[in-house]
Amino acid sequence: MRKYEYDLFVIGVGSGGVRAARMSAQYGAKVATAEDRYMGGTCVNVGCIPKKLFVYASHFAEDHAQAVGYGWDASNPKFNWQVLRDNKDREISRLNGVYKGMLDSAGVTHFDGRARLVDAHTVAINEQQVRAEKILIATGSWPVIPEFPGQEHVITSNEAFHLDELPERAIIVGGGYIAVEFAGIYKGLGVDSHLLYRGPLFLRNFDISVRQFVAEELRKKGVTLHFNTNASSIEKQSDGSLKVNLIGGGSLETDLVMYATGRAPNIQDIGLENVNVKTHASGGIIVDDYFETTEPGIFALGDVIDRIQLTPVAIAEAMAFSRTHFLNQPTTMDYDNIATAVFCQPNIGTVGLTEDDARDQLEEIEVYESTFRPLKHTLSGSDEKTLMKIIVDRTTDRVVGVHMVGSESGEIIQGIGIAIKAGATKKTFDSTIGIHPTTAEEFVTMREPRRDPQTEDRS
Ligand code: NDP
Repeated sequence: MRKYEYDLFVIGVGSGGVRAARMSAQYGAKVATAEDRYMGGTCVNVGCIPKKLFVYASHFAEDHAQAVGYGWDASNPKFNWQVLRDNKDREISRLNGVYKGMLDSAGVTHFDGRARLVDAHTVAINEQQVRAEKILIATGSWPVIPEFPGQEHVITSNEAFHLDELPERAIIVGGGYIAVEFAGIYKGLGVDSHLLYRGPLFLRNFDISVRQFVAEELRKKGVTLHFNTNASSIEKQSDGSLKVNLIGGGSLETDLVMYATGRAPNIQDIGLENVNVKTHASGGIIVDDYFETTEPGIFALGDVIDRIQLTPVAIAEAMAFSRTHFLNQPTTMDYDNIATAVFCQPNIGTVGLTEDDARDQLEEIEVYESTFRPLKHTLSGSDEKTLMKIIVDRTTDRVVGVHMVGSESGEIIQGIGIAIKAGATKKTFDSTIGIHPTTAEEFVTMREPRRDPQTEDRS
């Protein structure tokens, strides 16, 4: 006789939860899941996937303009927001079905509804109580809006995917991934796009060259950047427009304000008060190397533990969790050298250390940096440029950081990520034959260090 109905109960079927449920079931566990919002979580419904579709959509504006230099007549392209939104919704519905199908075919029992912890082995979904030997919290994260007068007039990325109408003017507040991605999406779709960031330069944890370069490229494309400022209050005006009052004086008028000021672990109303699960000050659930919380039998992974808020990280954590607990193969996560992309326009691709971090952590570094006009734009009429940067540990010759801003950086950096993970040295890069003519070949042809970083005056 089983002591519990299930070996594993997963709360939340986003990227991490679905993978943990499927893998654990494949390893022989009896698994149940619960979800009260959407199958596939943030990534599929209001994150990575619809965002990338919107990035594609917005890029057509430039593609049409650039086609002219190649002999095309692109004189009358028109955009229809409702068509894009509804086509996107249809694709997301299809994906919701795919996710449900994956759980079904793995033999997972799914409960529709909010699951709340009752004790370390019991969850309640609506009126029903279910007992499981292990419970996994994979509830993700939720956008945070700071408190200020008029905050009820703003939207977050959650709503941005479902607008009835595309605004004529938009202000995006924040300087991270979501803000720069949406500033580009709106601009490409024809919106007068403004980005408001509280510091001197956005993308704070990225390489300094990347940050400066992206600012320049966004400005060239017509995104208005407001740095060193923030909204103090927002007022709705009689014509429905919004007046954004700025800290330090002045105001901006707009039709839509979107806050992209970070995402907090989703720990509200899941019954944490009934168990001994401790959290960090950020709200992230504290877990050990094997994702066990401070309450034995309860586990957590993905955005809710607030380590690295990325879908592929949640998936990798889920696989490590399942192997450890249901395949008897203790597996820890390696968070080093995670390649990532920001789908601003042009994209950022990055892996490894920034120049500043490398300088702090290593004795001597070499920096290779190149800025150029890609071949495509010799005829396109676009003045978009590409940046590539390699950071090398001079003592070992290991490449410790690679950064790119340019078309398809997200695609290119994935392969570079493998090389870095494999411990590639600059010599390895140099002995690699390039693919001609591509932008990526620049990564294997940069021979001269930019300058001597040790002696350079960086002021
Ligand atoms: P980020 O943490 O990337 O950025 C938050 C931004 O908001 C920062 O610029 C921060 O400024 C600013 N901010 C925070 N609080 C305030 C405030 N009170 N007033 C004004 N500005 C504020 O969060 P995002 O919301 O952009 O994205 C959330 C996470 O989602 C990301 O960390 C990323 O991991 C993930 N994501 C990944 C994507 C991808 O892989 N392409 C795409 C989208 C999201 P400061 O720097 O000064 O702290």
